[in-house]
Amino acid sequence: MPTVNEIFYSIQGESTRAGRPCVFVRLTACDLRCSWCDTPYAFHEGQKRSVAEVVAAVEHYDCPLVEITGGEPLLQEDVYELMHRLLALGKTVLLETGGHRPITRVPAAVVKIVDIKCPGSGEAERNEWSNIDRLAPHDEVKFVIKDRADYQFACDVIARHDLSSRAAEILLSPVHGVLDPKSLSEWVLEDHLPVRLQLQLHKYIWSPLSGGLDSYTAAAIAKAQRFSLYALTVQYGQRHARELESARAVARALGAERHLEVPIDLRGIGGSSLTSDEAVPRDRDLAEPGIPSTYVPARNTIFLSIALGWAEALGAHDIVIGVNALDYSGYPDCRPEFIGAFESLAAVATRAGVEGARFRVHAPLITLSKAEIIRRGLVLRLDYGLTHSCYDPPPDGRPCHRCDSCLLRARGFLEAGVPDPLVLS
Ligand code: SF4
Repeated sequence: MPTVNEIFYSIQGESTRAGRPCVFVRLTACDLRCSWCDTPYAFHEGQKRSVAEVVAAVEHYDCPLVEITGGEPLLQEDVYELMHRLLALGKTVLLETGGHRPITRVPAAVVKIVDIKCPGSGEAERNEWSNIDRLAPHDEVKFVIKDRADYQFACDVIARHDLSSRAAEILLSPVHGVLDPKSLSEWVLEDHLPVRLQLQLHKYIWSPLSGGLDSYTAAAIAKAQRFSLYALTVQYGQRHARELESARAVARALGAERHLEVPIDLRGIGGSSLTSDEAVPRDRDLAEPGIPSTYVPARNTIFLSIALGWAEALGAHDIVIGVNALDYSGYPDCRPEFIGAFESLAAVATRAGVEGARFRVHAPLITLSKAEIIRRGLVLRLDYGLTHSCYDPPPDGRPCHRCDSCLLRARGFLEAGVPDPLVLS
């Protein structure tokens, strides 16, 4: 059974298929540690899923293009069966591999995108050079370039191995935020290098950003996938308005392109202890059945509707939300059924949807426990001291340690085995 980190549908940002809708299957584990790696969360996190389950999840997106990536996908034996099953369904299958594992057993019809690690990655010694002799005419070779020395290395390899005649395309990608793409373009033009400069497509995503731990982590995961963040915070008359300050701090820390705050006062609707004078439950047994009074009627439907409207206005198709169905307070709008139903709604409720655009609601935390969410955030070096979780803070804004949200947070940090910076402060 393969261990799968995530399966998601997005616009392909790399390779000659850049710009096309694609389903990504990210498998867990990698035996390299490239200095610029942007998916360290794939080193360890993931869930065992049968090949049949993975294929069904891919099928759900009804998309002819699939990329299997990692981590390093060739570390898992089941990847071969997965590739065969996807090919049998008529999919175009791309395999992104780090270039240090033999590609001998990869089915011929799979398009391999084989990295050649440059010295700046710290892993150049691991290149499996015999892979070059195994390239099929449709395969592509990729160099991630950190600096001029990496560029020179790539030039030497391209010439020494006559790569232009062996691969369908040679891709050169600048390390995001380290090497200015303009410099790389100038070097390529100066040398008339027969390569395709690969710039990440600008991707847009929305994050209903509350300033809490979950929405911070969900937005950071989207950022690590190189989405551009447009952060949305709704001022809905919540009694814990302190979270708005945290939302601003988090949006700044994540480098959001824009942070929109929309006031919609839900106190007029009522029906929740978070938007009224009704007491917020304290010291509750979290295993107690039923939906607590902190549920805000249709809150996530309202948030996602605003996000959908903003997404449509900007031409974006991806929305991320930090809900999770494990360690939550029993709210119905935190479950996969709700997310799936909202995607269906978006398809029929918007002009973009009826004209063929496919809106996706990404809920990367939905199957994670609070401890797993915290661990993933720590890998992404998030500062949880910026966040706010308490539903009922006293006037000094410090957490009460007794509401459901504080209790879930405390349990999460305890299980993750790390101290909560909010408690320390
Ligand atoms: S091979 Fe890929 S997943 Fe592994 S460390 Fe390098 S960039 Fe990260």
